[in-house]
Amino acid sequence: MCGSALKLPVSQETIPIVQLPQKIPDERCHALGMSSRRSSSCILRLMLILMALAGVRVAALNPDWTTPFPAHRIAGNLYYVGSRDLAAFLVVTPAGNILINSNLESSVPQIRSSIESLGFKFSDTKILLISHAHLDHDAGSAAIKRLIGAKYMVMDDDVPVVEDGGWTDFAYGHKKSESYPKAKVDRVLHDGDEVRLGGAVLVAHKTPGHTRGCTTWTMKVSDHGKSYDAVIIGSPNVNPGYRLAGRPSYPGIAEDYEHTFQTLKALHCDLFLGAHGAYYGMVGKYARLQNGDQNAFVDPSGYAAYVAEREAVFRKELKKQQSQ
Ligand SMILES: [Zn+2]
Repeated sequence: MCGSALKLPVSQETIPIVQLPQKIPDERCHALGMSSRRSSSCILRLMLILMALAGVRVAALNPDWTTPFPAHRIAGNLYYVGSRDLAAFLVVTPAGNILINSNLESSVPQIRSSIESLGFKFSDTKILLISHAHLDHDAGSAAIKRLIGAKYMVMDDDVPVVEDGGWTDFAYGHKKSESYPKAKVDRVLHDGDEVRLGGAVLVAHKTPGHTRGCTTWTMKVSDHGKSYDAVIIGSPNVNPGYRLAGRPSYPGIAEDYEHTFQTLKALHCDLFLGAHGAYYGMVGKYARLQNGDQNAFVDPSGYAAYVAEREAVFRKELKKQQSQ
């Protein structure tokens, strides 16, 4: 009984907080002589309730979000510097580096140490970008700006949300447990804008729905004399609680998802990447890289299959909501 209502965020797109149990656990766990394991489960549950009541974010309890992962070169000047699931990417150029995603507030030291483990300087990060304005991808931005003064560039319709620390997010806004430090945006991006630094060119594709300004990044990467198209998917996912029909979460959300799938299907992809490692099977591909497969992240068919599967899930959910 104890612990049955405890629901930790286990998938990459579940609501990133612990949900409160239906009932406050009582002392019966001990009175009934439960095992020490069950007792500790009760204690954990109590702690989580207290933390949640205090407005403390406990998203980090999804272990893959905070478990360190070896930083690695994906191809050319493109590197992975995230955790086991929260992806962060570093584009290295002679004029300084571009970081995509600041992740959780607690992720900043992990990202810094990943960058340094590759032999680069954290302070050389000149530009900070994000996949979308949810706290698992942007809560560390204020700290990174404060520490090294990177210029923060964000898609237009995500700007209000990052600048008010998540407060006006259509799904998770107005909750202390979902807010995070506000960060001022230095450049407002629009669909198709380019971010250039030291010869690197990143293109911002607006792929809205998951957030209003969700962004898929593309860039060309040169590796061993070949050129590859890298695609870093912002998120095509319809989270639990999102309303697509009837009284939509925001006007036009279903049309935004339609636009997103059109955009994703039209992109040419060699290097398949995304805001969470789980989107593209990062852990398995990294193992192949370690075994000498230099093309481990080249996966155009995996990209096409992922987008098709996510689109099918969206259409099923849309149909279900339209029939209700
Ligand atoms: Zn998200």
